[in-house]
Amino acid sequence: MSDAAARPRLAAVIGWPIGHSLSPVIHRFWAEREGADAYYVPLAVEPSDAAFARACDALAALGFAGCNVTLPHKERALAYAARASRRAAAAGAANMLTFGPDGAEADNSDIPGFAEALREALGGTTPGGKAVVLGAGGAARAVTLALAEAGCRPILIANRSADKAAEVARLAAAAEAVPWSDRSDALAGAKILVNATSLGMTGAPALDIALDALPRDAVVADLVYAPLETDLLRRARARGLTTADGLSMLMHQAAFGYRAWLGARAEVDGALRAALEEAVARRKRA
Ligand code: NAP
Repeated sequence: MSDAAARPRLAAVIGWPIGHSLSPVIHRFWAEREGADAYYVPLAVEPSDAAFARACDALAALGFAGCNVTLPHKERALAYAARASRRAAAAGAANMLTFGPDGAEADNSDIPGFAEALREALGGTTPGGKAVVLGAGGAARAVTLALAEAGCRPILIANRSADKAAEVARLAAAAEAVPWSDRSDALAGAKILVNATSLGMTGAPALDIALDALPRDAVVADLVYAPLETDLLRRARARGLTTADGLSMLMHQAAFGYRAWLGARAEVDGALRAALEEAVARRKRA
């Protein structure tokens, strides 16, 4: 068959390292569920502009529809692209590249992916009110933009390195930086707390924060997904607070790439979560 439309649909995820990525599990799950002739491959690409451009040029030439981009290439992806969505340009980083005849288009699905995860945790309602974001890396930038789009205000940014918190605060009129040492007190009256640092991740130090000031109707989201239940989420649940874990955002951001490149249906549901939890448990045993 020579018809291009009959070829398998191809996408990839580029990172360094990449072995830990759960994105292939998500895309394989959706492709199998709808019987799509689609493949999604993890590619380890060295952290250099030349290696990144070489890999993307090759993917485009081989007929890949697009790729996700993860650490440490998200800023590089934006620089590589011929065009960028408003969201990717605002975030200064892209986690999606879609290849076309006129070059690659960059997008950032971490922003709507986080917004979806939060909405889901809130039972379908739109978040609002005061929010506190811990961290000032790429994930915190995406979260801050999503919270601002949802109409949250104020959005307080606390980060160990104060200069980076101030930089993230410049992304949105509603955002302002607060000292890292004030992070527990900053929670007074907050409707949303987001951990967008790597604290609490397996092998990283714990996140030291007192949750006492958070109101009873607050939502606590942790972007860390290894372990699945972080100490922060465990403490939040013990206080009866609503929570959203890192898997939730990961699944929702992936849906944008799957629908753009591989298939039509990308439901985020219990079956997908179970498949991911099983993959995580299998890796832990290996
Ligand atoms: P990043 O750019 O490397 O940022 C790391 C952040 O953690 C920075 O704000 C850093 O503060 C802070 N940090 C690291 N060690 C710290 C310490 N010992 N004490 C205080 N702060 C510390 O990483 P990222 O891409 O933003 O990712 C952040 C987290 O989100 C990671 O755990 C990542 O896996 C997760 N994530 C999840 C998803 C998802 O879909 N669930 C998506 C993206 C990211 P400094 O600025 O002071 O160094």
